[in-house]
Amino acid sequence: MRVAFLGLGIMGQAMATNLVKAGHEVTVWNRTPGKIVEGAGVAPTPAAAAQGAEVVWLCLSDTNAVEDVVFGKDGAEGSLAEGMIIADSSTIAPAATVKFAERVRAKGAAWVDAPMTGSKIGARDGTLVFIVGGDDASVERLKPLFAAMGKKIFRMGETGKGEATKLVMNLQIAMIFEGFAEALTLATKLGVDTQQLLGLIDATMVRSGVVDYKAPFILQRDFTPNFPLRLMHKDIRLALEAAKEARVKLPGLETVEEIYEMATEDGNRDLDYAATLTLLEKWAGVQVKGKAA
Ligand code: NAP
Repeated sequence: MRVAFLGLGIMGQAMATNLVKAGHEVTVWNRTPGKIVEGAGVAPTPAAAAQGAEVVWLCLSDTNAVEDVVFGKDGAEGSLAEGMIIADSSTIAPAATVKFAERVRAKGAAWVDAPMTGSKIGARDGTLVFIVGGDDASVERLKPLFAAMGKKIFRMGETGKGEATKLVMNLQIAMIFEGFAEALTLATKLGVDTQQLLGLIDATMVRSGVVDYKAPFILQRDFTPNFPLRLMHKDIRLALEAAKEARVKLPGLETVEEIYEMATEDGNRDLDYAATLTLLEKWAGVQVKGKAA
């Protein structure tokens, strides 16, 4: 398929590379020039990248970035044509997604929200899980592209439901990780052996994918960003915003949001969200130790 891929950050670069490897005709664009994907064309603007494409795939930071790239100056909107699909893998506000979809529908194009989970490693290995909202026919047409970048798709309903679901997924990741980080901090302060604790977690119902993924990085004190703290913070805020609009109270997430605020002030914004642990360690005057596998 002819694909315009807009946004070559941590995730986008690897996703576009996998589209090229699968034989699709890809043209990329990134706000900061100089980023390339081997085997893909490079366009000077989103509109130029989208010209003649069947699908415009977005992988951008946030709601404002998506609005700028699609509807701003030289935005992809200028090249939209009947039958084109915008697939958006950025995690953004569900309500904005619904509005964006209405705007492109006026030009005969469809909007499929396709945020994903699987982080940097899933993007590199083509094992992402896509959480999708959109009409059946468009989702069906995107299947070869999903297959090139991921291992599974979950269609959650109409446009907007993918983003809504992604927010409730990240709400859980943030809170599960917070529980794990607080447990490690208290355990260390109480003199509990981290290695033994991890073995115990693994053997019981406390085990989780979040713990499996993050524990090796923590033990190596590797906080380089797989999923940057600034982006998890954005997702927590998006979830709180959606909850407010829906008149749902989320007191646990509100507290976790405060921790992200403090971790940001503490200089951790561009590190992985696992760096929230360092704030707890600082308060407790300990550092979690253990042997990386
Ligand atoms: P990232 O590395 O920060 O990349 C963000 C991309 O958005 C870059 O290409 C950046 O361009 C572009 N961008 C930001 N603001 C822009 C603007 N106003 N106009 C045009 N382009 C703009 O982020 P990422 O980790 O790839 O994540 C991308 C999206 O996927 C986010 O919504 C994130 O929440 C979501 N996500 C990430 C992960 C993960 O583990 N990293 C996992 C699942 C979902 P520049 O290069 O010019 O800055």
